[in-house]
Amino acid sequence: MSDSANGQVHDVVILGAGSGGYATALRAAQAGLSVALIERDKLGGTCLHRGCIPTKALLHAAEVADLTRDSEQFGIRARFETVDMAGVNTYKDGVVARLHKGLQGLVRNREITYIEGEGRLVSPDTVEVDGRPVTGRNVVLATGSHPRSLPDLPIGGRIMTSDQALFLDNLPRNAVILGGGVIGVEFASVWASFEVDVTVVEALPRLVPAEDEACSRALERAFRRRGISFRTGSPLAGAHQHATGVTVTLESGERIETDLLLVAVGRGPNTAGLGYQEVGVALDRGYVRTDERLRTSVDGVYAVGDIVPGLQLAHRGFQQGIFVAEEIAGLSPAPIDETGIPRVTYSDPEIASVGLTEAQARERFGADQVQVVEYNLGGNGRSQILATAGFAKLVRRVDGPLVGIHMVGARVGELVGEAQLIVNWEAYPEEVAQLVHAHPTQNEALGEAHLALAGKPLHAHS
Ligand SMILES: Cc1cc2nc3c(=O)[nH]c(=O)nc-3n(C[C@H](O)[C@H](O)[C@H](O)COP(=O)(O)OP(=O)(O)OC[C@H]3O[C@@H](n4cnc5c(N)ncnc54)[C@H](O)[C@@H]3O)c2cc1C
Repeated sequence: MSDSANGQVHDVVILGAGSGGYATALRAAQAGLSVALIERDKLGGTCLHRGCIPTKALLHAAEVADLTRDSEQFGIRARFETVDMAGVNTYKDGVVARLHKGLQGLVRNREITYIEGEGRLVSPDTVEVDGRPVTGRNVVLATGSHPRSLPDLPIGGRIMTSDQALFLDNLPRNAVILGGGVIGVEFASVWASFEVDVTVVEALPRLVPAEDEACSRALERAFRRRGISFRTGSPLAGAHQHATGVTVTLESGERIETDLLLVAVGRGPNTAGLGYQEVGVALDRGYVRTDERLRTSVDGVYAVGDIVPGLQLAHRGFQQGIFVAEEIAGLSPAPIDETGIPRVTYSDPEIASVGLTEAQARERFGADQVQVVEYNLGGNGRSQILATAGFAKLVRRVDGPLVGIHMVGARVGELVGEAQLIVNWEAYPEEVAQLVHAHPTQNEALGEAHLALAGKPLHAHS
């Protein structure tokens, strides 16, 4: 460990090596700064070890299960026997291990000082790691988040969060998922494909309530077809764990007996007990308050990732890390526009979106100042080949640029790249309509939607 105990003062000291922290470290080192990166668990953080990557590996295994079961639809005879969780976990853990190894190599090659241990901010320029000071001209807080529960709902045994649900050795026969947001919906999708009888309980009136209402409705229709039950507008009254399962009671009075209760009600910031407040870093309900340049209330101390209020997404953390590294290196980067950050819900079907929902746009610009087009994937050749349903919905300001794009369907997450370029570059439908989209791709659905919005629909029934 090279630190101030050895007389070294780093240009940047980063506390937490998840998406936000390691991105800061990689970019800062690239910019020629000396970097210390402190981590108490594993390099890569939540996203790599307990979040984005393992869940997507499970979703891919789920897709293989569905394809095997439905193979005759495509003229292929295959027999679905069972889900071998040991095999699924080996596959999932192998993906994570390969990426972890690659990331360790990146950190080594950029000559970042990697320090293992529990860190605590003890002054504006020093983090103490297991009693040893690590000093920097700048400090970046990147300690991430943890799964939340509700009061009177202790986690343990058959009541679990995504942290435990990702490592099940055996599948339950049935499960209740508390929370119909991104994480809850992803697990519902995986488990239903693995033949678990799933019920999602959501207090708000619809699944994925942060998305455009049309996306929620399409997902709900798809879930119904897949036999996934859900209760929306249905707050939990309580849950009681007993020897053979959990009794879940809803405020409506309904009782559901289940083998397992997954609590997916959001994630809280890891900021307690880390010395932040003692050093003067202002918090707001546990989150670190920053300005648009990600400066905290203490000079020379920045914050990135899930501890900063806003979307809790890995790619936001990456971008904030890059931003802070460049800021410290004196490169004057442009601030990040939060509304331009793409969002994907990786269930079957997927939801991909960027920018304002229709409701948000109407509220911001006035109800009659917004124009909307929905292109149904029924007219898209590639989507028909994949046997998926859904749409691409465009939201534009009347006579103005696109302000929101919302898509539902298998694999539409892969289309969000073009969608985010369109929204972030404030493109006009007439401009996008001039661009050629390869045939047959699902991407064409975006092209077709823009043709329709530009007043010249091609493959669309009027
Ligand atoms: C099930 C699930 C699925 C998800 N899927 C996606 C997805 O598909 N796409 C997406 O964009 N996002 C996804 N996310 C969210 C994503 O994982 C987070 O937004 C991202 O990991 C946040 O990065 P971070 O660096 O802020 O925090 P973290 O990744 O949580 O990293 C923080 C790190 O700090 C370390 N740390 C904390 N305190 C200390 C301390 N005192 N000393 C030393 N080290 C410390 C922790 O050990 C941790 O490694 C998912 C999350 C979950 C739970």
